[in-house]
Amino acid sequence: MAFDYDPGNVFARILRGEIPAKTVFENEHALAFHDVRPQAPVHVLVIPKGPYASLDHFAAEATAVEQAGFLAAVAEVCRMEGLEPGFRAIANTREAGGQEVPHFHIHILGGRPLGPMLS
Ligand code: 5GP
Repeated sequence: MAFDYDPGNVFARILRGEIPAKTVFENEHALAFHDVRPQAPVHVLVIPKGPYASLDHFAAEATAVEQAGFLAAVAEVCRMEGLEPGFRAIANTREAGGQEVPHFHIHILGGRPLGPMLS
């Protein structure tokens, strides 16, 4: 599959500093910030710094170092936000998956019991 990336998307603009965001954590390969419309007491978005539109784009084309840096950021956010009791990580993917912003991101949700997802 060929992947396209739109550099005008809102998360690309956050990465370029054109739009403010409440940063939680940053490393060389990833940025984590609070979702503007939180769905749980903790709702953080983790995005890679590279131009990847979706989870499968990231998996196919990001280097192993970029992927490791991204996952390290996810783990660090969970530690910093006190999510040891548990959390939910979601990657909506393209239109049918409910993805609105076409820059790969993982939602980290927690801070309360979330229950089964498909209830
Ligand atoms: P998606 O549906 O693409 O998985 O989720 C996109 C998420 O980005 C939504 O939860 C939405 O609230 C969040 N979002 C959209 N625009 C902004 C923004 O400008 N700043 C922040 N912090 N979050 C945003």
